[in-house]
Amino acid sequence: MPGGLVFGPAAWTPGEMLNAPAGAAQLPHEQSARAPHTRAELVGVLERLGIGRTSGVTPALVEQLRDLEGRRCRALVLNLLPTQPEFALSEALSRLAIEDLRAGLSAIQRSLRGERVIAAVDKHDGRTRKLWRQGARNRPGHEATPYEVRPLLNRYPQAHPTLLIRALFGRRLQVGHLPSRNNRVLLDPVTAWAFGRYVRTGELFTHRPVQLFFDRASAPPNTKGPPTPLLVLAKLGAPVVELLNQYHIRTAQRQIIANGMLAGEEVAVEGDSGAVVTAWTDSLAVREPPVNESPYPCIACGWCVDVCPTSLIPIHLMELADRAQRFVAAAPLTPGGGLPTSPDPLGARAAREALHCLGCGLCSYVCPTRLPLTQKTLRLRAWVVAEPGREGV
Ligand code: SF4
Ligand code: SF4
Repeated sequence: MPGGLVFGPAAWTPGEMLNAPAGAAQLPHEQSARAPHTRAELVGVLERLGIGRTSGVTPALVEQLRDLEGRRCRALVLNLLPTQPEFALSEALSRLAIEDLRAGLSAIQRSLRGERVIAAVDKHDGRTRKLWRQGARNRPGHEATPYEVRPLLNRYPQAHPTLLIRALFGRRLQVGHLPSRNNRVLLDPVTAWAFGRYVRTGELFTHRPVQLFFDRASAPPNTKGPPTPLLVLAKLGAPVVELLNQYHIRTAQRQIIANGMLAGEEVAVEGDSGAVVTAWTDSLAVREPPVNESPYPCIACGWCVDVCPTSLIPIHLMELADRAQRFVAAAPLTPGGGLPTSPDPLGARAAREALHCLGCGLCSYVCPTRLPLTQKTLRLRAWVVAEPGREGV
């Protein structure tokens, strides 16, 4: 448990969504004049509402719809699997706003006319599975959108589109490609929720649910017992520091990580360039900064190979990234940037293996010598992507 953070759905007991819009949960589900009828109308409404990317993992619905063009949609999949091990957003939204989710799913399906509609849920999350199974049945008097509930064994990063498409349909989807390439469309719960709210109540997409995690030292004063994560509605564009301060979470001299402990990114909150809540801010985790550890050489334990969901050898990719970096030493890496475009210094197809990296962070997490495997592999990946001819990989 890094930094003493509450880390894992078992600890997730957010009584209810703080500052949730009053009364919305009681509205009956019904057809609305706001619901679009065609794909083009759906794209138009999504654009007007600013509902683009709303997940750190699932691609934007609007991008997939544009990519799909006139092709038929073989399946619309609501991705309810946790996108990080500690997340419980799908479970919480299903419990607190199932009507909005169902309305969003139905309205999107009516415009998209997917051949199948699937709600993919964590096999071990019995409560969410039950809610969605009930939702499929309890719709007397309303035009039901039939959907299948597909429980999946959820081993992180199962929610990643590449793994999810493989698990559901046995189809290969290259990392970084849109599911629409396979004539499937993935929908994340926040898009379904935001769209459903709009269809039911006319509410615009100005706020999104954000999970707040914090360690004991960062918890609000007077917190008794272990700190419990919060689920709040956060205004898009609001400074992260203001949001955290609003809930009395300490931010001074803390490390703040957006979008998950394994694959998320540290964000700066101080000064004019401080981070703001975006439409895809799934979570914010606040903890005491970790003690800086210098990496040691690889001890060939093999753990990174064991955990990699796409069967890569992360230490090899890190070495290739280092070689490439040395080759282009005149243009050094910048933090967060990729390797500069250059003639292939490696002469190796091996570097292209990096295209299969999901960025899940598992290799770095398990490495006992603290090597920055994920960061280096992603930089190598960025370099390979920038090379001409990559499509043939
Ligand atoms: S981040 Fe590491 S474990 Fe995850 S896919 Fe990439 S190389 Fe494999
Ligand atoms: S987990 Fe770390 S130490 Fe073990 S083989 Fe991979 S890079 Fe080497």
